[in-house]
Amino acid sequence: MIPRFKPWLNSREFLALFRPNRGSVKKFERRFASVFNATDAVAFPYGRSALWAFLKSTGIENSEVIMPAYTCSVVAHAITLSGNYPTFVDIDLFDFNMDTDLLQAKITIKTRAIVVTHLFGYPMNVDGIVGSVREAEARFGHKIWIIQDCAHSFGANFDGRPVGETGDVSIYALNISKIMTSIFGGMLTFHNADLADSVRKWRDIHFSRPSTFKSLKRRIYLLAIYIAFWQPIYTLTNWLQSNTSLLDYFTKAFHLDDAIHFPPDYLDKMLDVEALVGLEQLKKYAKNIHQRRENARYYNEMLSSKNGNWVLPPIIDGATYSHYVIRVLDRDHEVRLAKEKGLELGELIQYSVPALASYRDRSALCPKSNVASITTINVPIYPGLTNNQRKKIVEILT
Ligand SMILES: *Cc1c(COP(=O)(O)O)cnc(C)c1O
Repeated sequence: MIPRFKPWLNSREFLALFRPNRGSVKKFERRFASVFNATDAVAFPYGRSALWAFLKSTGIENSEVIMPAYTCSVVAHAITLSGNYPTFVDIDLFDFNMDTDLLQAKITIKTRAIVVTHLFGYPMNVDGIVGSVREAEARFGHKIWIIQDCAHSFGANFDGRPVGETGDVSIYALNISKIMTSIFGGMLTFHNADLADSVRKWRDIHFSRPSTFKSLKRRIYLLAIYIAFWQPIYTLTNWLQSNTSLLDYFTKAFHLDDAIHFPPDYLDKMLDVEALVGLEQLKKYAKNIHQRRENARYYNEMLSSKNGNWVLPPIIDGATYSHYVIRVLDRDHEVRLAKEKGLELGELIQYSVPALASYRDRSALCPKSNVASITTINVPIYPGLTNNQRKKIVEILT
């Protein structure tokens, strides 16, 4: 079975679990900032903690925070748990990102921040959004923060410039299903040293040092990931996940879509061992993205003959292809068919956030987000794919 995603881990990350790691979080922050063109980076235990902490530390409360309707549910959870309200904007099905034509009308006097998500690695035109925001700021007389969600778009470029360069802050997420990983983890990057300093100070007051026991648990977790994704074992892993609740500890404990929920350790600092794994992943980052871009081009070429029922994703300069997402008519059918032939297709984001039970009362009409939530599949695109696997995937899909 070819897995739908697979963290790119080898012996360096393995050895990082056993090396001395004191001070690694600071090192990881500095290195991360320099790789992703920021002046500063501040680490957190999860991406959602990072967003939550940013909203709390800047004193944004009881306000509306605009976000795309089609994205990870934890973004809305973080906004809600920080004492604010998400306002949803529908997407453009071309690149799955927020439809900027709809943005201006959603900004009200209560809006204090906008989460700009570059979904699946597709860069948004942040400059255009800055224009709308400046206009609204002048109208309402207060600052509206621009928060970029780069969880899928580490190092994506728009018009030749890194996306994280504009706006006030960028969020990155680093669990094992992301482009790169630090076991778990989240990061904020900044261009303003004072802002970074004040968020870092806030974190140091409100987040606590995790226990030695937790650092042991996280090591065991990563070792289990090596085993679970080991090719001869993966069919079993996949079976256990589909047919038993044995692996729920690895998934559901950290992520619930339908309840506004954070994991219990969301106020822990990032562990040094996580940072050390992250530092190893940073070294391979350029190669990682290069490979993803190449795989996306390969699929677009090889799958282009596929009948008109499929909408292949656009190839866009500067995109990072965290996922290769195709829209199909009958998703269940495609997923079942591929599985029978040994290919696991992803069904990432099977919901429109405003349609989830917790947010339904604030439901906006987001028809395109609904369409995306029931028609998308994603094809394995991770850098560890071999040429043979890529060929086999194309064979199965055609
Ligand atoms: C994964 C993800 C996050 C948050 O990440 P966690 O580390 O799981 O909290 C935020 N936004 C998007 C788009 C994501 O995919």
